[in-house]
Amino acid sequence: MAQHGSDLTIIGAGPSGLYAAYYAGFRGLSTVLIDSLPEPGGQVAALYPEKLIFDVAGFPAVRGQELVERCVEQAAQYDPTYLLNNRAERLETLDDGTFEIRTHRGEVVHSKAVSITGGIGTFSPRPMPDAEEYEGRGLVYFVRELDTMRDQDVLIVGGGDSAVDWALNLEGIARSITLIHRRDRFRAHEDSVKRLYASSVRVMVFTEVAHIMGEDGVEKVEVFDNKSDEREVLKVSRIIAALGFNADLGPLKAWELGIEKRHIPVDTRMETVRAGVFAAGDITDYVGKVRLISVGFGEAATAVNNAAVHIDPGAKVFPGHSSG
Ligand SMILES: Cc1cc2nc3c(=O)[nH]c(=O)nc-3n(C[C@H](O)[C@H](O)[C@H](O)COP(=O)(O)OP(=O)(O)OC[C@H]3O[C@@H](n4cnc5c(N)ncnc54)[C@H](O)[C@@H]3O)c2cc1C
Repeated sequence: MAQHGSDLTIIGAGPSGLYAAYYAGFRGLSTVLIDSLPEPGGQVAALYPEKLIFDVAGFPAVRGQELVERCVEQAAQYDPTYLLNNRAERLETLDDGTFEIRTHRGEVVHSKAVSITGGIGTFSPRPMPDAEEYEGRGLVYFVRELDTMRDQDVLIVGGGDSAVDWALNLEGIARSITLIHRRDRFRAHEDSVKRLYASSVRVMVFTEVAHIMGEDGVEKVEVFDNKSDEREVLKVSRIIAALGFNADLGPLKAWELGIEKRHIPVDTRMETVRAGVFAAGDITDYVGKVRLISVGFGEAATAVNNAAVHIDPGAKVFPGHSSG
């Protein structure tokens, strides 16, 4: 069992957690960052690394993975300790008011304060029914690199932002793109849907997968119209199943944080009902909450600066300006 000590333990290395690590370092606090995923970056790195993000201040457009890399680089100035592939399982307040966190792999972290930036919890893609044998053999749930789709005949399944964005992003890269959706209404951004219909992507609504065919991987897919039952066999070499994902707060639910509807209520200091336990990013809740990367950054700064005062009551909340 490995033991770690830090001023602040950060649970979740998504954008909010990474920015919290930077800010803690700026305040002179040492940090341990725990994440159940093998890479930092949370939803951005795992779900949409290749997509362009347009609403992060200072970046008119930034690729998801690039934003994550910048956040990691910014935090790295203060050398945080990463415990990746570790799910935080237990949080205990010790007699002296400090905290002990245990992960599912037996790592133990002691700290003076905690910041929970667990987002939507640990998440995994919703699997495509009866398609397991094709996973990794043409069927993928995320596109980590657009180039893996180069010159392929791609079938995208889904009607949300991910499905529509992949379709648009793959124009000019894939040889052909077909998008099927079981309804005629898309959950994607209106403007993206407009662009989809104006693009070269073949869009088939009220359409579902009947079955996948292929010896060494995906070769063909039979699809059917769920209104008329009309069938068509498509020549396809890659399937992107963008069916959404299952998210689970898992162990955090037992941490007596007053979690409601998968969110942690916080006060204006981003402190939870447990003194010394702060939260930031998608996981927090209060009246008027907006779940965006930029909001998570702001909340992380508030959480960490107030954690600094929890750790040293003589410290000021305002950190001073970072500009030299
Ligand atoms: C397809 C898509 C497109 C999006 N586009 C935009 C956009 O254009 N602009 C925008 O602002 N936002 C966008 N978002 C939302 C944005 O990604 C989130 O607001 C942001 O990722 C929240 O960051 P976070 O750090 O709070 O949480 P997350 O990114 O969810 O990171 C939380 C991390 O905590 C980890 N974790 C959870 N529980 C535990 C545990 N018990 N132990 C260890 N680790 C744990 C998870 O593994 C995860 O890595 C988009 C989201 C999606 C899905």
